[in-house]
Amino acid sequence: MKTFCGRANPTTGAMEWLEEAEDYDYHQEIARSRYADMLHDKDRNVKYYQGIRAAVSRVKERGEKAIVLDIGTGTGLLSMMAASAGADFCYAIEVFRPMANAAVKIVEKNGFSGKIKVINKHSTEVTVGPDGDMECRANILVTELFDTELIGEGALPTYEHAHKYLVQEGCEAVPHRATVYVQLVESKRMWAWNKLFPVHVEAEDGEKLIVPPSEMENCPGVPSVCDIQLNQMPSSDFTALSGVVTMFSVDFSKPVQSASTYYRVQLELVKSGKAQIVLSWWDIDMDPSGMINCTMAPYWVNPTSALQWRDHWMQCVYFLPSEEPVVQGEKVHLTASRDEYSVWYTLQRASEEENKAAVDVESPVCRCHAHLLWNRARFGELNDQHRTCHYIKALRRVLNTDSVCLCISDGSLLPVLAHYLGAKQVQYFILFFRFLHFILFFEANHLEDKIKIIEARPELLKPSHFKGEKISVLVGEPFFSTSLLPWHNLYFWYARTAVTSHLTSNVTVLPQSASLHMMIVEFQDLWRIRSPCGVCEGFDVQTMDDMIKDSLNFRESKEAEPHPLWEYPCKSLSNPQEVLTFDFRTTVPQHCLSTEGSVNLLRKGKSHGAVLWMEYHLAADISISTGLMQISNEKGNCDWNPHCKQAVYFFSSVIESETLSDTGAVTYGINFDTKTGEIAMDFKL
Ligand code: SAH
Repeated sequence: MKTFCGRANPTTGAMEWLEEAEDYDYHQEIARSRYADMLHDKDRNVKYYQGIRAAVSRVKERGEKAIVLDIGTGTGLLSMMAASAGADFCYAIEVFRPMANAAVKIVEKNGFSGKIKVINKHSTEVTVGPDGDMECRANILVTELFDTELIGEGALPTYEHAHKYLVQEGCEAVPHRATVYVQLVESKRMWAWNKLFPVHVEAEDGEKLIVPPSEMENCPGVPSVCDIQLNQMPSSDFTALSGVVTMFSVDFSKPVQSASTYYRVQLELVKSGKAQIVLSWWDIDMDPSGMINCTMAPYWVNPTSALQWRDHWMQCVYFLPSEEPVVQGEKVHLTASRDEYSVWYTLQRASEEENKAAVDVESPVCRCHAHLLWNRARFGELNDQHRTCHYIKALRRVLNTDSVCLCISDGSLLPVLAHYLGAKQVQYFILFFRFLHFILFFEANHLEDKIKIIEARPELLKPSHFKGEKISVLVGEPFFSTSLLPWHNLYFWYARTAVTSHLTSNVTVLPQSASLHMMIVEFQDLWRIRSPCGVCEGFDVQTMDDMIKDSLNFRESKEAEPHPLWEYPCKSLSNPQEVLTFDFRTTVPQHCLSTEGSVNLLRKGKSHGAVLWMEYHLAADISISTGLMQISNEKGNCDWNPHCKQAVYFFSSVIESETLSDTGAVTYGINFDTKTGEIAMDFKL
């Protein structure tokens, strides 16, 4: 069966109807899933196995039959561990049909069909009794339902239900308990992901300050978790104001309550500074003694123990509603409030605590709209004064007292910069798509009558929008909130083409051009998320590998995927290469833009894939890279733009060169279809 899905093409802006096969969604789900990453997580797997063996032994020692309930069985891995450990029977519950089907195959292939019953249901639909899905309640509860925030995937309501209806009182649970840890820090880098800092503009008539509106300053932001690879955050980028403290823990062997609640701890501050951010992670004890512990603690917590890399569980960054100055030795209270699915933090001064102030358990709601329209990386990008300086320098060169300026970018500061850098009498016409609430920002800076917001698609603009004047300077960052892959921001080129009739014949377009760059890399760890696993702790999971491979190849041409590479270290194996250029001074051509070539591999290593990114040329000598910033040492380690995602194209087979002489070359063909805005690529090693 086919279904049609309507969407605006992120690159061309055109409304289009895509014919999607019914199974498109689940192929996407499987292809982009974290199953491979979980199967590669050795530390997790080994500890689950130890915990499951210990739980089965405890039940057997009591002379009982070991009946296991595995909620969210995925590949069936944990049930197979239980069966191997001597469990008498396992009920393996999986809600996602393609996974449940895979689990049936994997269980059969490994010879456990007689011991494991796969049930394709949500656990809350499972029935117990002679005619039910389960003959009787289980006495061992095994689950892996956690996300980086622990509870974001619904672990609490699932446990609550399971204890009420599916397991016996006093059952064993693997994991036995989870504990959430917090540390209070000051970090300009991370705070810049949540608040807009004042922007300094060196104008002809003195320094101007662009300030955020008070609604934005006081806004508590959004409740969605900010999960990152905290191990990639250098210790120089934050200051710990407190030690690491246990915030709360959950015992999974006892009835669990999912209703909203809060937890409060007292912190004694070890340093003076601004309390801005709560860093948080969790660990799970697989057994009651706490001897089998699997932790997400970042590198500075246990400096001597080896870190397991994983992407399915990372660490959380929580932003306090506002920053609070604190002094060393002071005692403050930190409150974690949670509902069924998310956690948020507030700080109370000790004195307020004495007043027994009521705890606000309301989840944060963004009132300024900025947090809904800018994600964390975009906040960081707008706060990057170095980047802003490049735009200021370039704008200053092209603007003059007669300039009629049009800006095309989402939620951009460029119109404000353009206003301050040009002459006062000139009126600026600004076009904002999908960003209606920016007016607050203009009001805070007394610009509401200086900058006109036009809410219209570019092809619908009329001369009356510009009071009959022609645009002499067209600017864009370019940035669009709908962009997922780097080249989606080429929408600027399409919008520029659509407004051509409103431009003067000698219009200045800034950026004047863009280029697509490519480099072959070896990833330190990211390769795991797309790499087959084969055998996991002695169980054959190749069926899963094949399924992921099928889904990755579901579209005729393989697609590149976006990743923020500052979080995923890699080394360059080739020089960066410019592969395509896009000239914004002219309109989008009718024909495709294609290129072919080869890049030499200069370093030995494993060619895991190609990384692609865009560079924007604001002027002949001013460029902004959204990808590679520099190759930082002889080993080829790369520094990436910390505000942007780059495109990663994983090669289907990895070639390893052991010596410099056999490194060879990679040939590529890249085609930009100007009609569809899609980039297709092919690589041969
Ligand atoms: N147990 C596997 C897979 C864990 S991923 C392993 O450890 O390798 C979690 C899986 O649980 C997903 O496949 C998801 O679809 C499933 N799931 C989550 N909540 C569920 C629920 N309440 N009932 C049934 N399946 C659930």
